[in-house]
Formats: sequence, C-alpha cells, structure tokens
Amino acid sequence: MGGIEERIQRIKMLIIDVDGVMTDGGIILGPGSIELKRFHARDGMGVTLAKAAGLMVGILTSRDSEVVRRRASELEIDEVQQGFFHKEEGYQAILKRHGLREEEVAYIGDDILDIPILRRTGFSICVADGADEAKQVSHYVTQKKGGEGAVREVVEMLLNGLGKKEEAIVSILSPSKNSAKK
Ligand SMILES: [Mg+2]
Repeated sequence: MGGIEERIQRIKMLIIDVDGVMTDGGIILGPGSIELKRFHARDGMGVTLAKAAGLMVGILTSRDSEVVRRRASELEIDEVQQGFFHKEEGYQAILKRHGLREEEVAYIGDDILDIPILRRTGFSICVADGADEAKQVSHYVTQKKGGEGAVREVVEMLLNGLGKKEEAIVSILSPSKNSAKK
C-alpha cells in the first residue's frame, strides 16, 4: 500500500508489455512469418537509463516474435517472456528466477490481458491510450501514448523517485560505455 512515491522506493525491476506499450500497437504482417514493429528510440534509451541505474528490465508479451527478441537483445533486456496468452505464467517465472517479491516490480501495460499483472505488481502503470479497464486497475496512467515515449516517461519517474537519474546519465556518458546502442 501507499502512495506512488512510496511504491517507487521498493522497485527493483521494470517489466514492460510490447504491443501498445513499446509500440503504438501496430503489427505489420508481411509474407510468411515476417512481422514488423516500430519502436521509439527514446524508449530504448529509457531502458538503458533504467539499467544504468541498477534496475532490471523485463519484457512480458502474449505474442511471440523475432523482432521482440532482436529489440530485447539490442537493449540488453534481462528477461524476455513471450507467447503466454495469459501472462501470469511468464510473470511468475520472472519473479522466481530473480527472487523478486511483487512489490519490487513495476509493470507497464495497455490492455485487458495486462489486468491480472497490473493488479498484482507494486507499481502498475497503463499508457495514456490504453484500455479503460487497464487504466482503472493501475496506480498511474502515463501522459505519453504507447510507442511514443511512455516507457521513457515511466523510467524517468522511477529514476527521479529513486534519486538515481543523474548517476545513470553520468554512467551512460562515461567514455568506457562506448558501445553503439539504440
Ligand atoms: Mg499490449
């Protein structure tokens, strides 16, 4: 229980839905198994910032696609759970593997399948253009829409709350971190 600032103090991991959160929800289907999604570079830097601040980052999505594996790899995301129509199984696997309690997890979702997770995590967030039902069970609704910087907004909120934003920026800008990203 408690207010948002109090909830943020306990967070150790940010778990993110993909479609409608890391993207605008568009899924471009091509011939065969080709599937394309559009990600926002500032959300990618948000993930990098979160990791630089010592938070773990995970992806939990109902669809299973190669583009998500690629984006997760580029961003060095700690956990990718794909292909669970009901997300609880993937969610529990993440908690178990990292020995996390639910209050130590923040989750960003946008739709009905996210509701069970939004109801349980310590800090639950729905994007601005998410389904009303998902907003109703969330602690916070972003100003930004999915695919348009909502993830970055949440990361900045977490890092500001934890007092770790400056150190994360300094770490990213340090000459030793010179691998191309995003
Ligand atoms: Mg979604």
